[in-house]
Amino acid sequence: MALRELKVCLLGDTGVGKSSIVWRFVEDSFDPNINPTIGASFMTKTVQYQNELHKFLIWDTAGQERFRALAPMYYRGSAAAIIVYDITKEETFSTLKNWVKELRQHGPPNIVVAIAGNKCDLNDVSFTRRLSYSHCQKTWEVMEKDAKDYADSIHAIFVETSAKNAININELFIEISRRIPSTDTNPPSSGKGFKLRRQPSVTKRSCC
Ligand code: GDP
Ligand code: MG
Repeated sequence: MALRELKVCLLGDTGVGKSSIVWRFVEDSFDPNINPTIGASFMTKTVQYQNELHKFLIWDTAGQERFRALAPMYYRGSAAAIIVYDITKEETFSTLKNWVKELRQHGPPNIVVAIAGNKCDLNDVSFTRRLSYSHCQKTWEVMEKDAKDYADSIHAIFVETSAKNAININELFIEISRRIPSTDTNPPSSGKGFKLRRQPSVTKRSCC
């Protein structure tokens, strides 16, 4: 069985749960007291996808502003970028849009982009807040719709995740595997695009 190495980088604000997503995917565990990432960390996991083995070389980056200058080292040569935001923090979604712009300008042209709205286990908290503070309802609803519409507009994968409750983490990587262009020189005529602008978007809402 052919083994393919696929570099994947995680981008997004500090605290959105990038390291927790990687930890859940690689180790299938969650540490509520996970240490903040300094610079970047690296982990691998190999999974079977159809008749190939996909070895994900995962670069988990720090979200701090001072890290931004180093980011190209991690997204250059990446087959996929997972850009994470926290569904309870609207400002983290603005940061996500900036990362998309940067990838468009400087990233690999065929990079698969996945948008992950993490901490969807906190939906219940959001709901409680919505009952108490009407402005929270507005903020949260705009975020959810914005995320889906935005992902559609850039033909990115969109998925809500919970590293804490192991929701949609494996599915996120399976979807990335699916979007990675085949090594087959005569790809099937299903027309699965892989350029950023050609990817069909997928929304998985099983979380909520
Ligand atoms: P990073 O800075 O983006 O790498 O974020 P971390 O993975 O370090 O997580 C930041 C904080 O969010 C930690 O306290 C995590 O326990 C918490 N966290 C991460 N993922 C989730 C999640 O899915 N649900 C909840 N409720 N908390 C999470
Ligand atoms: Mg981290």
